This record gives sequence, C-alpha cells and structure tokens, in this order.
Amino acid sequence: MVQKSDTSSRDKQMKENLDVLVSTQTVIKKALDKLGYPEPVFELLKEPMRMMHVRVPIRMDDGSVRVFTGYRAQHNDAVGPTKGGVRFHPGVTESEVKALSIWMSLKAGIVDLPYGGGKGGIVCDPRQMSFRELERLSRGYVRAISQIVGPTKDIPAPDVFTNSQIMAWMMDEYSRIREFDSPGFITGKPLVLGGSRGRETATAKGVTIMIREAAKTRDLSLEDARVVIQGFGNAGSFLAKFMNDVGAKVIAISDAYGALYDEDGLDIDYLLDRRDSFGTVTNLFKETISNQDLLELDCDILVPAAVENQITAANAHRIKADIVVEAANGPTTLDATRILSERGILLVPDVLASAGGVTVSYFEWVQNNQGYYWSEEEVEQKLEEIMVKAFDNVYQTARNRRVDMRLSAYMVGVRKMAEASRFRGWV
Ligand code: GLU
Repeated sequence: MVQKSDTSSRDKQMKENLDVLVSTQTVIKKALDKLGYPEPVFELLKEPMRMMHVRVPIRMDDGSVRVFTGYRAQHNDAVGPTKGGVRFHPGVTESEVKALSIWMSLKAGIVDLPYGGGKGGIVCDPRQMSFRELERLSRGYVRAISQIVGPTKDIPAPDVFTNSQIMAWMMDEYSRIREFDSPGFITGKPLVLGGSRGRETATAKGVTIMIREAAKTRDLSLEDARVVIQGFGNAGSFLAKFMNDVGAKVIAISDAYGALYDEDGLDIDYLLDRRDSFGTVTNLFKETISNQDLLELDCDILVPAAVENQITAANAHRIKADIVVEAANGPTTLDATRILSERGILLVPDVLASAGGVTVSYFEWVQNNQGYYWSEEEVEQKLEEIMVKAFDNVYQTARNRRVDMRLSAYMVGVRKMAEASRFRGWV
C-alpha cells in the first residue's frame, strides 16, 4: 500500500512537470523576479496576448470531408511583429502552442531580433496524408488565420513535420488573398520563391556553434567526441552531418520509431540518403534500440532534437553525457533541468540552442523586404556572430547571477520584451 501511494504521488508530480505551459510560466516568473520586474509584467507575459482557434474543413482524396483543429498564438508584439513556426502533428494542443509561442519570444530576445514570439499548429498526421491533402490543409489554415497574420504582423515558418513546400503553398495562398506577391509573409520558403540561402540548415548550424562553444568551456575536443542525437528531422539530420564533418563520432540517432547505435560511429551519409521526408530511417534496420535507451547511452554530448518531455525526473539521473544541447523545443522538464545541473552536466537550453532557425528566418524576411539576396557565406558569417554573442551572454549571466543556464537564458530573453512593454505603457 505504501508503495502504491508513493508511486501515485510521484506520478502526480511528474504530471505537473510535463505541462510545458506551466513549466515555462514558472521559469518566466523566476526570471522576472530576479530582474526585479513587478507582478503585472508577469501577468502580461504568462500567456499569449492573442490566441486563435480555427476549424479547417478539408476535402480528402476519397471525397469525404474532415475538419481539422488548428491554432495560432501570438505571445507579445511589443518589440515587433510576432514570428514562429507552424507544426503539423497529432499531439498538438492549445497549451503546447501557447508555450511554443512564449519560447519564440525568448529566442527572439536572446539573439536580439526585432520580433515577438508566435506559433501555430494543426492537429493532424501528415505521414498519413497525401500531397494534395496536405496542400489543401496548408491553404485552408492560411485562409482561416489570414486576418491576424502578415509580413508586418505575424510571420509563420516551418516547424515539426512542415517544410519549404508547405511554406510555398501558404505564401501563395496569402498572396492570392491579399492580391499582391507577399514573400515576407512566411519564411523557410524554397530559394526560387524568396527563401534564404542557409535557412534549411540554420537550426543545425546554430546548434553546431552552441556545441562548439559549450565544449570549449569543458575543454572537450570535438574531434572524436561521442555524440548522441535524438530525432532525425530538419535539426537532427543536418546536425549529424555537421558533427561528422568536424570529426566527432555520431554513435546514435533516432526517429519516432526507434534508435540506431554503433559505438564506432554511424554511417551518417548513408542514413541521410535513406531517410524519408519525415526523418524516418530506423525502419530499414533490424537491430534497433529504444529512444529511452538512446538517451541514457554513454557519450560526451547528447542532443535531444525531437519533441518535448524526453529528459524527465525519471531518467535524468541516468543521463551520462557531459553536455546536453537542446535542439528540440522543451525536451527537458524542470525537475530534470535541476537534476542535470546538480550533477554538473552543462545544459544549453532550447531557447538559446535552437535560435539559429529563427535567426536565419529573420535574414530571409530582411532579404524579402529589401528584394536583395545575400550569399551563403554572408548568411553563415552573420549567424555565427549572433550565436556566439548569445552563448557568451547567457553563459556569463549564468555565472555572474549564479543561476542555471535555463534561468539565465530566460533572464536574457525576457528583458527586451519587458522593457518594450513598459515603454509602450502596457505595464
Ligand atoms: N520553428 C522554428 C523554431 O522553433 C523556427 C521558427 C522561425 O523560423 O520563425 O525556432
């Protein structure tokens, strides 16, 4: 009996920690308190200023109609228009989209972009849909949210299971509604439609820079460092390639169905070649391990690059990496963050580590506004400069204020938005 009540109280605690909106609100509150902001600032920032819930009817290929649920959250537009991706996933919820929009505000603050945060999501499984069904859903979603988005209002982008083709349909639909070509409505577009060089690889490039900077602080050489990557989508797959390029050993990767492990290092070029557009590749192999086992492998650097709540109070004690770099949004719970920090593991939090994507999205939007396009070298050099500066800022703040890297990143990320809200006289 005693054991049972122990388990249920632990379960209850776990449940609390798994609500990403509640966890992000907890850290925002701590960050604002540390910075000395009064209560109304927290009241303003704890939820998005605007949240749209839409129902999108779509004619399926078999002639039937399905109605999809979608959301668009706009967290805070004191600094500038809101910005952030659109995710197509069966697990999308309203509170997740809200949290994701808050994280976008923090990212914009950390890399100092003139944006607030936004995020969208549709509850659907694109792996089960045809190309034309996906086109109709993408266009239907844009029609549903067209009143509240736009190049100077709220600028969408890719996220989990969305890509440059989906951005192209969305841009075309918006341009038709507005009756003028609007490339700056959305980022992550194909190059021929005003996309930026370097956008597709930007999140992974940014994560690579963060890994390099984090490794320096631990005197860890990347040459032969053992790297484990969870997720083989846009971030995870390019990251595996970049880690391979710098001579690190990628010993494990995974997709939604399982993980591949080889202590001598995996053949990344082969895996990149064979994965499908959803990052699925483990189905081609007989010998796989589970995603949970992957997280606990003996390695130097662990990169969760998939979805939320992967490192929790249940497994944080068993993580063996020296450095954890969050390429996904929200992969580590707050309890797990505390446990990793107590164990001396350096954690580079999501709002810093994955900010390379939105940074190059900003470059794309600037190029669209100018009608003048930059070289890949120019994009990469500017990304490098911004990410290194952001890392130093968050790392030094953590040291000076004696806080963990997540709280430090929130302190850096929230400040500009809080100041802008105050200057506008909102709080
Ligand atoms: N979806 C990406 C993120 O979570 C990129 C957003 C953007 O480029 O606006 O950061």
